[in-house]
Amino acid sequence: MKNTTTFSIPVLFDVHSFQADLITWYSKIKRDLPWRVNQDPYRVWVSEIMLQQTQVDTVIPYFNRFMERFPTVYDLANADEQEVLKSWEGLGYYSRARNLHTAVKEVVAEYGGQVPSERNELKKLKGIGPYTLGAILSIAFDTPEPAVDGNVMRVMSRVLHIEEDIAKPKTKKIFDDVVREVISHDDPSSFNQGLMELGALICTPQKPKCGECPVREHCLAYEYGNQTDLPIKSKKKKQTTTEFYGLVIQNNQGEFLIQKRPEEGLLANLWEFPLMPKEEPSIEEWFKEYNGAEIKVNSKGETVKHVFSHVIWEIEIVFAHIKSGEIKSGQFVTAEELKDFPFPNVQYKMMDNIFRSNLG
Ligand code: SF4
Repeated sequence: MKNTTTFSIPVLFDVHSFQADLITWYSKIKRDLPWRVNQDPYRVWVSEIMLQQTQVDTVIPYFNRFMERFPTVYDLANADEQEVLKSWEGLGYYSRARNLHTAVKEVVAEYGGQVPSERNELKKLKGIGPYTLGAILSIAFDTPEPAVDGNVMRVMSRVLHIEEDIAKPKTKKIFDDVVREVISHDDPSSFNQGLMELGALICTPQKPKCGECPVREHCLAYEYGNQTDLPIKSKKKKQTTTEFYGLVIQNNQGEFLIQKRPEEGLLANLWEFPLMPKEEPSIEEWFKEYNGAEIKVNSKGETVKHVFSHVIWEIEIVFAHIKSGEIKSGQFVTAEELKDFPFPNVQYKMMDNIFRSNLG
């Protein structure tokens, strides 16, 4: 057996029998999911992007609606970005939707509407990282390419007793190499999906169900009895908290001021009630400087909290009205019209609070 960079697969590990046990189990338990009805690479691609950081049950209705609205790459490529973001609303991690939209336009422009099956072409498309690349190549095109995510690293670290720290980016290469060695060339799609499913359903982080595990007889961690010591994962840095005032500003007609976020960065191009950094000394002065008009603060509401992957936002709601002057950016909309704009989840948390306060 060939050596990987820093990990050698044990000589007694029976690769073929491991593949067979995993694939047989997967073919018995696999769920009927809407993206599994065929191997259409566009559907596989959309599902894999949606499934990043998101549970299967949450993704299903979004996927179905998305496919109804954008059934082909052409429908998605021709859509307006605001409409794409609206379809993604609530799923979070909106850069996924923007990147998918950009990449699909490229598929239409450069590849005649055919999702490329060639590794180097596919990996150049925006938003397709190594995991998604492996998932699309194996599931849609039957190519023996690793698709390694946290689930797969957990399973393989236990099966082969790999003690490298999975929090370190370079460790990912070890698992890529390992999976590349053990993946089935006859059915790479079922192999990769089987590994993912095993990690999701059986080989779970805290209490792996080894009694029900189809690959138990291949598993070194099971043999040594230290399953839950693996994978090794050093602690992440603590998330930082940023505090804002969320300004709910109404005009004389009772309409609300909303604004579009910048084109780059977190929650780009989504809409929001203006957020003001809390360290600023005066809300009224900050708003006049920032947006031209004078406001009068009426009261303060609850504080809502939203946890992103690297930061936590805490937003204290502030109710205010326009006293004089014209705003320089944003627009006023009625409470009814709010639903026509794509907002991130954190803003919906604000809206819950706002409308519970009987405003609007
Ligand atoms: S035997 Fe237990 S630890 Fe090993 S792969 Fe199966 S569930 Fe995971």
